[in-house]
Amino acid sequence: MMRRVLLALSKDDRTRRLATRTAFLRPAVRRFIAGETLEDALGVVADLNRRGLLASLDLLGESTTTADDARRAAAAYGAVLDAVHRRGLRAGISVKLSQLGLDLSVDLAEDLLRGIASAARERHRFVRVDMEDSARLPATLDVFERVWDDGFHNTGIALQAYLYRTPQDVERYLARGVSIRLCKGAYAEPAAIAFPRKADVDRQFARLIERLLAEGTNPAIATHDERLIVQAKTFARAHAIPPDRFEFQFLHGIRRDLQEALAREGFRVRVYVPFGPQWYPYFMRRLAERPANVLFIVRHLLRP
Ligand SMILES: Cc1cc2nc3c(=O)[nH]c(=O)nc-3n(C[C@H](O)[C@H](O)[C@H](O)COP(=O)(O)OP(=O)(O)OC[C@H]3O[C@@H](n4cnc5c(N)ncnc54)[C@H](O)[C@@H]3O)c2cc1C
Repeated sequence: MMRRVLLALSKDDRTRRLATRTAFLRPAVRRFIAGETLEDALGVVADLNRRGLLASLDLLGESTTTADDARRAAAAYGAVLDAVHRRGLRAGISVKLSQLGLDLSVDLAEDLLRGIASAARERHRFVRVDMEDSARLPATLDVFERVWDDGFHNTGIALQAYLYRTPQDVERYLARGVSIRLCKGAYAEPAAIAFPRKADVDRQFARLIERLLAEGTNPAIATHDERLIVQAKTFARAHAIPPDRFEFQFLHGIRRDLQEALAREGFRVRVYVPFGPQWYPYFMRRLAERPANVLFIVRHLLRP
């Protein structure tokens, strides 16, 4: 119930305007967001690299409503790639196609993604296409596939275990050698297309991890769920899959202890580092995932 309310609020413009003007929310937001500027984010990435962790930078923004804004976002990603390259940081990027104008024109999003993938390839960087809500899924896969088919194999896709269709998408991409990031899924979806019960999502996630580990090209296991992480490690060990064949991924600010423990054990660990002024919908999805986060904020606000 609380999850649904927070996810509905994540799309509400009035609440967004109020929240982004509310200065005392900022410290709570900083738990999940690396900062509002590229410089803030690069500092976080440098620190992660020092601790043996990799990063994927996400310039926050989604549901772009003008072609100019979409082009500006793509140009900003160019600047991110330049800065990462100049400083020799161990990081790629994550992009949302609705930020690149997917809702306005599929062709525009495709052109901009191709430009970003090309700039990334010149700098030996990887571009992960995030998965958004199910209404955008078919167009997201179309655009991704067209760019992949053009030879940009420094790109990969995120798939969500809560969707019934995901096993078919996984098999299709496994066969083509596409790198898949598997996550549980962060949006409110109807029971007609997604498992409503967490236990079913977890079961599908566990099954898909095994497929990715057995046959995937650089798969990414994106979860903070310790039980599923242990299961992945056990499966990899039992099937002699070396730790450099896959990676674990975490969101910035969540389970830092586990990130470091896995890196110490010799696993590849990448942290998703979101930054930028448009933090509101991302922040609300993080609150929706864990009601305790709302209490954390309330406690923070009530602190003298
Ligand atoms: C690297 C990465 C990339 C992602 N990319 C996408 C994407 O492209 N599309 C998409 O739909 N979703 C994406 N997600 C979000 C994902 O779908 C889940 O919503 C999110 O990861 C929470 O699920 P969980 O796997 O951690 O498991 P859960 O069962 O929700 O959580 C397991 C445990 O993790 C901790 N935890 C989880 N979430 C939080 C939180 N917000 N705050 C504090 N602790 C928490 C808690 O200890 C919890 O008990 C991504 C997640 C990661 C890690």
